[in-house]
Amino acid sequence: MLKVKPPEGYPPEPGRYVRGNDFSPVAVCVILDDFDFKIPPELQSLVLAGMDAGAALSGMLQTENVGTEKMLCNIVANPNIRYLVLCGRESSGHLPGETLLALKRNGVDDKKQVIGSTAPTPYLHNIPVEVIERFNKQIVTIVSLLCRPGETDTKSPGLDPKVVEKAVWSCFQENPVVFRGYTVHDMGAYPEPALFHKIASVLQEHKPQHAIEPGKSKMGMGLAMNKFLPQTNCRECGRKTCLAFAIDLAKGKARLEECPPLGEPEAAADRQALAKLLG
Ligand code: SF4
Repeated sequence: MLKVKPPEGYPPEPGRYVRGNDFSPVAVCVILDDFDFKIPPELQSLVLAGMDAGAALSGMLQTENVGTEKMLCNIVANPNIRYLVLCGRESSGHLPGETLLALKRNGVDDKKQVIGSTAPTPYLHNIPVEVIERFNKQIVTIVSLLCRPGETDTKSPGLDPKVVEKAVWSCFQENPVVFRGYTVHDMGAYPEPALFHKIASVLQEHKPQHAIEPGKSKMGMGLAMNKFLPQTNCRECGRKTCLAFAIDLAKGKARLEECPPLGEPEAAADRQALAKLLG
């Protein structure tokens, strides 16, 4: 059976995930529906269950755009990954689970909008179409255990670590097995070389440099704060631009938690700087 060594630098995107067996045919995606910066323990145990059962990558997905883009980059960089187990409970604000399933089913239109997603901003602007198309070909099935928003019953399949373990186990069997209606088995690596794409550096390059330091005016403070925002203008905070969000922060009309990309591990330094400016 064909298995390949992932390229140097894999996985290309940092995030809230753990790396397991590089030769495993399955990754686990747990929807993170909490927009505080902490991760609920019942979701953490799903990530660990995926890892213990032998997933290649097991981690959290919070947003329907940048978070999804990063996950796609990490998956196409390892052709051994052929299944994705989707679990946790849907996030009613961002609908990343629905977006992922729609992406697999329908792909994107010419504006890179995920066709059929009803999420607020299901755009994948930061990755080439090549990555999106490869994801849809390389991943043969998304095994969905996703619970409805707000589900608290940890016996529900998508919140039960034992069910997640069984899903992962099923995907790496040599012969086909049926798991909750999905027929799965380890079919070997996707027969084309890994695609290596990194978006973090692209986002960084777009950061503007302002000379204005925090002063007495709210605008000055907003501009100073804007330096530490991701500059993707993804609108997940409900504002049209990062600058508008920064000005609202300065005016006391917004909270850092409203910007999900700031909750990503690689944004920790920017988050700290903003917290300091806010006093
Ligand atoms: S401030 Fe708003 S627009 Fe900018 S990255 Fe954060 S959520 Fe997106």
